[in-house]
Amino acid sequence: MVDFTLTDEQKALREMAHDFAEKEIRPVAWQYDRDGTWPQEIIEKAWEVGLMNTHVPEEYGGPEASYLDGCIIEEELSWGCSGIQTSLGANGLASAPVGLAGSDETKRKYLGMLTEAPKLASFCLTEPGAGSDVSGMRTRAVRKGDVYVLNGQKCFITNGGHADWFTVYAKTDPEAGHRGISAFVVDKDDTVIVDKKEDKMGQRASNTATITFNDTEVPAENLLGQENEGFKIAMATLDRTRPGVAAMAVGIARAAFEFAVGYSKERVQFGVPIAMHQAIQFMIADMATEIEAARLLTWQSAVMLDQGRRNTLASSHAKRFAADTAMKVTTDAVQVYGGYGFIKDYPVEKLMRDAKIMQLYEGTSQIQRLVIARETLLPRRIEEPVPA
Ligand SMILES: Cc1cc2nc3c(=O)[nH]c(=O)nc-3n(C[C@H](O)[C@H](O)[C@H](O)COP(=O)(O)OP(=O)(O)OC[C@H]3O[C@@H](n4cnc5c(N)ncnc54)[C@H](O)[C@@H]3O)c2cc1C
Repeated sequence: MVDFTLTDEQKALREMAHDFAEKEIRPVAWQYDRDGTWPQEIIEKAWEVGLMNTHVPEEYGGPEASYLDGCIIEEELSWGCSGIQTSLGANGLASAPVGLAGSDETKRKYLGMLTEAPKLASFCLTEPGAGSDVSGMRTRAVRKGDVYVLNGQKCFITNGGHADWFTVYAKTDPEAGHRGISAFVVDKDDTVIVDKKEDKMGQRASNTATITFNDTEVPAENLLGQENEGFKIAMATLDRTRPGVAAMAVGIARAAFEFAVGYSKERVQFGVPIAMHQAIQFMIADMATEIEAARLLTWQSAVMLDQGRRNTLASSHAKRFAADTAMKVTTDAVQVYGGYGFIKDYPVEKLMRDAKIMQLYEGTSQIQRLVIARETLLPRRIEEPVPA
């Protein structure tokens, strides 16, 4: 059966998330963007009302929300401000590998830290020389007795400057390419240096930092899964988090769309509201269609996970299409505003800057196309179970 109707609980969840976005996020979003303000207060409030760590299982103190529920929340909060939602949501990216491959003890300790207090964790995959091609990473983890010793540098790490622990990918077999990567949970200590806070085009309320590991000792029990399984764990993580990024893109696009619709009815040129001009109507119509389509792909990719099915192809479809839609819709929203769209006193230029990152992080739009091409040319059985 195909049914796109949300349950009463899901509608209530959406309303709650929307209310939070409207009351707590929207009123400060443009100011935080201008000043690059870290949204500590909002993080604490969102944590308090249960809008963070959504997928953490109940046994570790989380709400154990479904992936579809997560997408519903992420769309609403990103409608408020996707930069702030990036700060709220990054725990999900850091904790997914722990949920996938951590021991019960590791889950209890590190997922528990996030659910017992409004703490943050970061996901450290990218390096200066290894972005799309993670197999080129140079961070090393060397086993010495009961510990692994980590050395190397990660860049563009969301929430890096505020995290209490990190999921870190490092080479344990440098000659083995992507098959030589392992994943670890690393506590923040004196050997973990936060080097740089990036000054960004968009999502300026989020924190993006460079993290350097200097002879950082990590207990051997903090290895996630087995040695050299890190790449598999990272890819399985992205399958789970890309629907959420797609939902964020839908939220940004929807915000821009709503502003454009409102403005087109108010702005008068040639004696009529510009909404009366067919060129504007067609832009609005295309925005509406693309947002609907992006949301459907997003929900499909999330529901597949909830059904325990592999969603690699579906999540790349969703992330690619929703990200490109957010970029197009926000650019067109600026067009609907005309010259005013280019001015910071008006809301849509922020959304256009925020949308750009959707095509970049958690796999660029080109990398999503590579995944889609691979999965299309060498299809896997859709019923294949979700990778662990
Ligand atoms: C604000 C922000 C937050 C981020 N947060 C995190 C985080 O929390 N944790 C983390 O680990 N990383 C994070 N990242 C890193 C992000 O995931 C990478 O920037 C992204 O994966 C791209 O890597 P790169 O920047 O090195 O670009 P590159 O890989 O150098 O790509 C440059 C260009 O080449 C294209 N390209 C590369 N290879 C191919 C190919 N084979 N075929 C076709 N085109 C190709 C890319 O699509 C892109 O257009 C973040 C980045 C930003 C900007």
